[in-house]
Amino acid sequence: MERQNLWAPWRIKYIQGLAASSGCFLCQALASPEKDRENLVLWRTEHALVMFNRYPYSNGHLLVAPVKHVAGLSELSEAQMLSLTRLTRDSQRALELAIKPHGFNVGMNFGRCAGAGLPEHMHIHVVPRWSGDTSFMPICSDTNVISQGLYELYDQLAEVSQKENLPQT
Ligand SMILES: [Zn+2]
Repeated sequence: MERQNLWAPWRIKYIQGLAASSGCFLCQALASPEKDRENLVLWRTEHALVMFNRYPYSNGHLLVAPVKHVAGLSELSEAQMLSLTRLTRDSQRALELAIKPHGFNVGMNFGRCAGAGLPEHMHIHVVPRWSGDTSFMPICSDTNVISQGLYELYDQLAEVSQKENLPQT
């Protein structure tokens, strides 16, 4: 079978930004609950948060992260791990209700060599997928268009969350 890659040209800003920015965007977002929409933080619970990836691989790409700034699962308590799993479940549920993906990639990258953009604060990627989505995004996708889409989808997921009483932690 032919290998197909998701085409996400807007990610270059993120990759270029990695070198320039110091600090942890997850902890920065956690520190400012009053800016949750601005920061695209969808949910926060005692042990974890769910926020949009600003540089998504696909529409609705969410990040589930522990509140605790740790690099790996071994540094989390049972309660913290359970919270991550529950929020992953609820993220999938909200996305299913809001944008009806055909499938998901859910995964973690540990270490830069494994593709982690923020290796010091672990997180789970929840990436919605659609049949044939490898080629539907046009090369001329503009970052502003994507950003607007992020806030539209944020509001859509926030509405679904309220209706369905999510997260159910
Ligand atoms: Zn952090």
